[in-house]
Amino acid sequence: MKILVINAGSSSLKYQLIDTADNKVLAKGLCERIGINDSKLTYKPAGKDGFELVKDMKDHTDAIKLVLDALVDKDHGVISDMSEIDAVGHRVVHGGEKFAKSVLLTDEVLETIESLNDLAPLHNPANLMGIRACRAIMPNTPMVGVFDTAFHQTMPAEAFIYALPYEAYTEHMVRRYGFHGTSHNYVSIRAIEMLGKPAEETKIITCHLGNGSSVAAIKGGKCIDTSMGLTPLEGLPMGTRTGDIDPAIVGYLMKKLGLDLKEMDAYMNKKSGMLGISGVSSDFRDLGAAAADGSKRAALALDVFAYRVKKYIGAYAAALDGVDAIVFTAGVGENDRGMRARILEGLDYLGVDVDFEYNASCPRGEEVVISKPESKVKVFVIPTDEELMIARDAERLAK
Ligand code: AMP
Repeated sequence: MKILVINAGSSSLKYQLIDTADNKVLAKGLCERIGINDSKLTYKPAGKDGFELVKDMKDHTDAIKLVLDALVDKDHGVISDMSEIDAVGHRVVHGGEKFAKSVLLTDEVLETIESLNDLAPLHNPANLMGIRACRAIMPNTPMVGVFDTAFHQTMPAEAFIYALPYEAYTEHMVRRYGFHGTSHNYVSIRAIEMLGKPAEETKIITCHLGNGSSVAAIKGGKCIDTSMGLTPLEGLPMGTRTGDIDPAIVGYLMKKLGLDLKEMDAYMNKKSGMLGISGVSSDFRDLGAAAADGSKRAALALDVFAYRVKKYIGAYAAALDGVDAIVFTAGVGENDRGMRARILEGLDYLGVDVDFEYNASCPRGEEVVISKPESKVKVFVIPTDEELMIARDAERLAK
């Protein structure tokens, strides 16, 4: 089947057209500055010349129309007619407790997603704009919603309940939800296949380390804990996000710095993390270069990150009662060999025996095993593929 995968942000829209017969990406690209002047479409078809088009897109409907025009274009297109698209898979960030699986997007489902807007005010309304635009233009094509939170819905209450008055949960939906679920799901499925054991017998820690980062503990193929919480701010320190901090810091700094809630939110989401500690950049490549040039703060940011990932691995090994495999994925996990080595150093007590030489030279962009053959715990680097996972779910539900 040919599945269009859409990831809509408030002013952007990423897309891929995937043929699930051979998992090939037929075309992919991005619409930027939607609703702002000088909107731009980037279009990259497989095996043909792509193009960029600067043309105003007043809303997501304009953006989707331009994407479809590109896909059927007689020179650059990869399909001859829009009807060749069998289904559309939409990334939806927050499914709350309502969605533990991907679903067909009906009017009722859209209303439910809308009712969760408070939990993801930046993301869900934007995702809905993408969905509504697609439905308007392709009314007869099945639409499927794939939620970042769904994979984590198997967490037991002891992992998802915060120690607040219980009514914060029952009346205000405050609990751990977790994010990056589609990625943790994809790499854990691959890790189970690579372990060659029945899924029920596996204990896996997946480390999605990118600009946003999270770790998940997966037992028998089901998530039992993850580091992100009510929002994607909790857990590991990230490019510009704090990760775990003492909650009392929030009030203390608001008072000291004279910040209101919105400003404090930006302080913790946009000015903290690797950028905040280093004062240099949120990008791990820049941090590596700055540290090599003698920046102590850049080096400290990298130390903090490695230490905190290691701490989560230890915590999740305890939560899982042992571990069979540790998986690294996303921009940093897949590419930053030095960071992987720092995280994995000293984990021998867990039964982790890493081939550090191979880790330092192994190829990028493919699945590799960086533990030694005799290592009790396998260490895998698995490039994530959230779009393929969304396409597979859309295919299954459209059928
Ligand atoms: P993501 O959010 O998954 O796209 O990951 C983005 C992060 O991955 C950025 O901080 C990049 O610096 C980092 N990254 C990508 N490639 C490399 C690389 N070759 N070495 C180190 N970090 C990298």
